[in-house]
Amino acid sequence: MKETIGFIGLGIMGKPMATNLLKAGYPLVAHNRSRAPVKELVALGAQEAFSPQEVASRSDVIITMLPDTPDVELVALGEGGIIEGIRPGSVYIDMSTISPVATRRIAEEFRKKGAEMLDAPVSGGQVGAINATLSIMVGGKEEVFRRCLPIFQAMGKNIVYIGESGAGQVTKACNQIIVAITIGAVSEALLLAERAGVDPARVREALLGGFAQSRILDLHGKRILERNFAPGFKARLQLKDLRIALETGEATGAPLPLTNLVHEQFSTLVAKGDGELDHSALFKLYEEAK
Ligand code: NAP
Repeated sequence: MKETIGFIGLGIMGKPMATNLLKAGYPLVAHNRSRAPVKELVALGAQEAFSPQEVASRSDVIITMLPDTPDVELVALGEGGIIEGIRPGSVYIDMSTISPVATRRIAEEFRKKGAEMLDAPVSGGQVGAINATLSIMVGGKEEVFRRCLPIFQAMGKNIVYIGESGAGQVTKACNQIIVAITIGAVSEALLLAERAGVDPARVREALLGGFAQSRILDLHGKRILERNFAPGFKARLQLKDLRIALETGEATGAPLPLTNLVHEQFSTLVAKGDGELDHSALFKLYEEAK
């Protein structure tokens, strides 16, 4: 008999992830702030719930996929939150991208209730969520990770146990540092090619065969050449993730000079009203600079 899973946060990522759990045969209790995605999942066989507390009281494993740290704090620890319904022996898995420091604090509260928490942020975007090919990076107790592995396998492919509570979120912050700085590097290189009178499409093609090859040069390089900045991963979420990386750096004494710079640039991009564009729109900022 498969464990019953509660799923809270049915947005771009959460809805397809929950759908894949249903497809894998897990009984699923679904909740979301707006109700339309809950109804869609009920049509696929899920049960409906009306608060995080209710989800927790009816589930063995509770998953959240919410935008930011304050959302997770509210849903996990707030009034009518998961903590008020969770049973001893249950597991709470947060798959959102949030602060590692807040994650450790939340995990501690669940431990006091006899429950365990894993942080399991993901990479791979909406396509990875739909195709169940997400990369999942997991922090928390290893034996709890092993118990939950079949659940992760229903949503992802590259599933890596990293270490203690918060380690998954630290890994995701590292991921977002590399992504954002590489977008900056690809933007600068393609702009230089253009301004130097060299065909940037041929530059990209040549570089894709060498040491500078990357998925960002490939996929976002193409977006930049086509000036196609429809999201994808929104610039305002990239800014949120860089803020988390900087806060983590500050808390641990790690200097992050390039992250500071690219964070400032994403702040400017979002302040200009481009936060809903794809994060590759950073190129626009460089292109428009004097
Ligand atoms: P999203 O589309 O904004 O979805 C968030 C969902 O959470 C929405 O359905 C929202 O409901 C719900 N929600 C918010 N507050 C709630 C509350 N208090 N109670 C119940 N439900 C609540 O965001 P997303 O793109 O799926 O991203 C989720 C997380 O995954 C973020 O941390 C993001 O950084 C991370 N992530 C995203 C991507 C990506 O490509 N999108 C890739 C990797 C990781 P409403 O319908 O009422 O707004």
